[in-house]
Amino acid sequence: MQRSLISLAVTALLGLSAGAPVLVVAAPAAKAAQATTQLPRSAVPTHYAVSLTPDAANSKFSASVTISLDVKQATTCLTLQAADLTFGAVAISAGPGKTPQQASKIDVDADKQTATFHFAQALKPGSYQLKLDYTGIIGTQASGLFSLDYDNGGAKKRALYTQFENSDARRMIPSWDEPFYKATFALEATIPAGQMAVSNMPVTSNTKLADGRELVRFATSPKMSTYLLFFGLGEFDRATSVVDGVELGVITQKGSLSQAQFALDSSRAVLKEYNDYFGVKYPLPKLDNIAAPGRSQFFSAMENWGAIFTFENSILLDPRVATQSDKEVSFLVAAHEMAHQWFGDLVTMAWWDDLWLNEGFASWMESRTTTRLHPEWHWELRAVDTREGAMERDALATTHPVVQRIATVEQASQAFDSITYSKGEAVIRMLESYVGEDAWRAGVRSYIAKHAYGNTVSNDLWREIEKAAHKPVTAIAHDFTLKPGVPLIRVSDAVCKNGKSTIQLTQGEFSKDQQNKKPLNWRVPVIAQTVGGATVRTVVGGGKASMTLPGCGAVLVNAGQSGYYRTLYAPKAFGALAGNFANMPAIDQLGLLADSWELGLAGHMPASGFMDLANNAPVDAVPQVWERIAGVLAGLHDSYEGKPEQQAALDRFARARLAPVFARIGWTAVKDEAAPVANLRETLIHALGEVGDPAVIAEARRRYAASATDNEAMPAALRRAILGVVASHADAATWEQLRTTAKTEQSSMIKAELYDLLGAANDKALAQRALDLALTDEPGATAGASIIRHVASNHPDMAFDFALAKRAQVDKIVDGASRSRYFPGLGGRSADPAMIGKLRAYAKQYLPADAQGDTKTAIASVQYRIKVRAQRLPQIDAWLRDHAQHGG
Ligand SMILES: [Zn+2]
Repeated sequence: MQRSLISLAVTALLGLSAGAPVLVVAAPAAKAAQATTQLPRSAVPTHYAVSLTPDAANSKFSASVTISLDVKQATTCLTLQAADLTFGAVAISAGPGKTPQQASKIDVDADKQTATFHFAQALKPGSYQLKLDYTGIIGTQASGLFSLDYDNGGAKKRALYTQFENSDARRMIPSWDEPFYKATFALEATIPAGQMAVSNMPVTSNTKLADGRELVRFATSPKMSTYLLFFGLGEFDRATSVVDGVELGVITQKGSLSQAQFALDSSRAVLKEYNDYFGVKYPLPKLDNIAAPGRSQFFSAMENWGAIFTFENSILLDPRVATQSDKEVSFLVAAHEMAHQWFGDLVTMAWWDDLWLNEGFASWMESRTTTRLHPEWHWELRAVDTREGAMERDALATTHPVVQRIATVEQASQAFDSITYSKGEAVIRMLESYVGEDAWRAGVRSYIAKHAYGNTVSNDLWREIEKAAHKPVTAIAHDFTLKPGVPLIRVSDAVCKNGKSTIQLTQGEFSKDQQNKKPLNWRVPVIAQTVGGATVRTVVGGGKASMTLPGCGAVLVNAGQSGYYRTLYAPKAFGALAGNFANMPAIDQLGLLADSWELGLAGHMPASGFMDLANNAPVDAVPQVWERIAGVLAGLHDSYEGKPEQQAALDRFARARLAPVFARIGWTAVKDEAAPVANLRETLIHALGEVGDPAVIAEARRRYAASATDNEAMPAALRRAILGVVASHADAATWEQLRTTAKTEQSSMIKAELYDLLGAANDKALAQRALDLALTDEPGATAGASIIRHVASNHPDMAFDFALAKRAQVDKIVDGASRSRYFPGLGGRSADPAMIGKLRAYAKQYLPADAQGDTKTAIASVQYRIKVRAQRLPQIDAWLRDHAQHGG
């Protein structure tokens, strides 16, 4: 699954991690290898034959399933998972020709999401067929079988899709709905004539029924986990292309196929790459990617085997609005979901404790593949963004290890967080660098070959990597996946002798909210060099190490930034590095900017260290460096909320640094411009708008006004950036004008984005109007929650208070899996001490104990923000006063 990418375009470009603070408080992971399960393992399913009849118009379905199963221990009852299903006839038989036995009693436990079927005659060990007739509900949010309504060329349409990860297959099929229970699936569906039905496998027959409907049968799937099953139904178009004997498809609503060409081309390139990398060819006959209107607060795409589901804003490129970053998102998401076809679908974690095996790996593979197949995007420089996204959470006391104990569905949902995805990715990057690319790939290949169609735990991967690498990688891997937190490597001043520099390294721990914490111990692979010199590797173990590097001069630790740790230089060493900033590789410039900013905020070094770097960064530094500086300065602007004088000083400095960079690249792209420059242009327009640059705001407004009659005024590449500035600085008339545009927009994708913009207004009265609008039918069933989230990015307290006051209504427009993180996500950006009490009260009143992890993390984030405002901003104020020559 790819996490929700809503507003990724802005947050990723600004170097901010997307989404709400999300974390789980978990018990120690020592017992992770003992796979937990909710169902007794006395019976095991082997095959599901499902017959489904959806009634889209009435949001319900009827179905029957015949489950082939093996009873392992004699029993008088079978317990399956089921949610919101109503049962009719239930019978079990010991095979064809044997007399079936009706269930004598059915116990449904709504809280545990189980149904227990009792039989008068005990079932002896052996093979059985359990047949269940039942009905269920078609929801409006993305879990189980759900519908999405949209306009297509002015006509109202409804399409159906499924979303089962992590535990929602049970909403469509009573089942052993845990990843451990792999089985084959044969699906058939009775559908209205003229619609297209899609599932994991190709259609094998399509029969016209007497009443005009059609019966569609799909080929039997390979052995797989329930959460990977997919069904879709609607008025679709499909484009195909064959690669290595596999039919690749992209499926869209009717009329949108031309926007899918890039996605189809991407899938072709990625499939070839993966068939080679994994050493096992993609095993299904086809692989579709289904683009759907709408959105979820939980995810943007899902790796159903052979039938990837992607919300259309993360896959389609509409030439009217698509930007360079949209292209990157489309490619990345496809690369992520396709990596899961092996890591996740073919080989699946035994239980959610090891979810990172799926998500950390797919995230790493997505970055690796994007870097390889689109070198011109320089995605390798995004590694620092990933690391920062993970450390933001991992340095709080509420963090958890990458491998964690999961006991409930709610905890499994919360596990889809930045520790699982981003720390998982960062740790893999570090370990691959440690063992080498070839050894890593060899280990992955033998892991896939050995465990195909099976389930694994993390140690199954480490075993194969270690065998291939002949290096003790497991011990390091355990340190970084079984222990929470961020190592801190302190670097002494270098001693130069005979043309060599010697440094002392000591390992501590980087914590944002536990000042006197006794550091954990990690074995940390470290790569260092003198700037421009050869790299030297070591592993810091037992808390310290000494390194001797060829050359004298500024010393750079974590060279290449593959290490998952923060680097804190002694003051002279930092000064030397700052003086050599322009001579460092771009990735290390990014790493130094990120470390100095976070270490400064946490009080490990002066908060002005970053300001010095930002002040001296060359105007021609790579675009990603300026994106990071712009991101920090725009974020700092927010931190000064309520302190107008200091905010004005910061804004003057930000404009003085960013405006000359923007002047170099201008509003209009030159021919054959490098892709990162296009991204930087968007970021700078956004950031300069944020810090009140009058020229940028005026030009954005001029272009927006002119766009009514002049198509060139707001080209696709600039459209989102311009509208973003116009919307955040909107007055009532402009806001209403944007709303009218949203209302009349025909494209479901553009419409949703326009409604989000209404939530971006700085003006409080307009933000309130957006909140009220979010709960009406106007924006559509899946747009409301997104609008409120946009309001929260400017006005967290207001959005939280509003959502809480309307909690029952808001719960209906948020998908179940993200409900416990949605509210803390709104309040988590606040800097108001009152929010802490509000969040606590919310959790106490509305969340079960196993669902409070995100709230605790949101509280920790608010507390940290308050501390930074009190303790660090004065240092930055002082620095700004000392450097006031930038005024103007
Ligand atoms: Zn994923």
